[in-house]
Amino acid sequence: MGAHMPVAGGIGNGIRAGKAIGCTAVQVFTNSPQQWKAKEITDAMVEDFQKAKAETGIDVIVSHDSYLINLCAPDPDKREQSIEGLKREINRCAKYGIPLVVSHMGAHVGQGEEVGLAAIAESARRVLDETPDSVTVLMETTAGQGSCLNHKFEQLATIIDKLQGHPRIAVCLDTCHIFAAGYDIRTDEGYEATFDQFDKIIGISKLRAIHANDSKTAFGSRVDRHDEIGVGEIGEVPFRRLVNDPRFVDVPILLETPIENDGHARNLAKLRSFVGS
Ligand SMILES: [Zn+2]
Ligand SMILES: [Zn+2]
Repeated sequence: MGAHMPVAGGIGNGIRAGKAIGCTAVQVFTNSPQQWKAKEITDAMVEDFQKAKAETGIDVIVSHDSYLINLCAPDPDKREQSIEGLKREINRCAKYGIPLVVSHMGAHVGQGEEVGLAAIAESARRVLDETPDSVTVLMETTAGQGSCLNHKFEQLATIIDKLQGHPRIAVCLDTCHIFAAGYDIRTDEGYEATFDQFDKIIGISKLRAIHANDSKTAFGSRVDRHDEIGVGEIGEVPFRRLVNDPRFVDVPILLETPIENDGHARNLAKLRSFVGS
């Protein structure tokens, strides 16, 4: 369990800051998520990363890719830039030894769902073919804001199908996003029905990371605004379930809740208090 940590001064510092608030897993950006330009990763940066892992005992590290990536962008230049961008991200992860990268994959921008999903799969195939085997891409469930794809489990399953169940393609489920997209996890029955559906449509073994976020926006709003655990529109129920669900003992559960005023420490403590409850 952990949180997305800021990495000023290097990823190593993000891991150390995570340890200080009780993380046993940490998510980071390996590069500024708002720009294509990337700093070269030096041996010293990798060394410090390894040192931080050894010091803290935290060895579950997940990366989140750039917000600019759209693997189905209708503009061929933008699509190419996105493919190259995700390849660079995976190469950075491989250099650090980070095994998982979360990606929003793409938005169809008026092309329609079917064309978009096919293009994402085609781009992803190239990305996987041209990058090291040590890194798995976790497609994140989205809120379906604008024309963002992967807000329905069927869409994720379609991409996985088109990639013949590629072993380096899996899923990161974001509680805020699926709630905004129309999966009602507020009750025990809703939680069970949602994960039954996930298992039937995608397969629970493909679920390799969870973003634990409450939602500021209403059920089905398709608007992505994270809130602190238990205080948003979702409430505590699914978070109590997630941290006690035997299916997810080995799945990192990561907060992306507001970080201000010790938000991560507070929300992580809250999540931990649910264990066994
Ligand atoms: Zn997320
Ligand atoms: Zn979000």
